[in-house]
Amino acid sequence: MIILTDSCPICNSKNIDINNIEYDLPKIGKSILYVFKCNDCNYKSSEIIPLTEKDPVRIEIKVDNKDKFKKIILRSPYAIINLKEIEMDIYPGIDSKFEIKAVDDFINSVKDKLEEIKILYHGEEYNKVIEKIKYLEEVLENKKELTIIIDDEKGYSTIYNY
Ligand SMILES: [Zn+2]
Repeated sequence: MIILTDSCPICNSKNIDINNIEYDLPKIGKSILYVFKCNDCNYKSSEIIPLTEKDPVRIEIKVDNKDKFKKIILRSPYAIINLKEIEMDIYPGIDSKFEIKAVDDFINSVKDKLEEIKILYHGEEYNKVIEKIKYLEEVLENKKELTIIIDDEKGYSTIYNY
């Protein structure tokens, strides 16, 4: 999460700008948008810090037609995501941040991750990873359905229905 700093984590310069902007984000409520910028190396990062407590949520979306591809997933650093049809759970990493992604971009990012790790597997396990990759490709071609279930103990994750 946030590291309070007076210098750039990349180049150590102290020529930095930090902005904390208060925002009323749809469905999340009052939040601080923290924006860091280094004026020397141009490194930028930003974080969303919600200020309102929420109840745990479970959100489910069935991706069964192309209209659903453009829905926006906001995933909080507390969310565990289950992809039902391919029996896959995605846990947040230690440096997880809020992520905003369209459904198709999210599916593509999972597919890329699997492509990246498949080299670690062999035999039957390897075939299972390849099957998951194929399945996700077919979802993106609108030939298969995918159910995305998001469990968020802090309640910040959401799907925007634009
Ligand atoms: Zn820098």
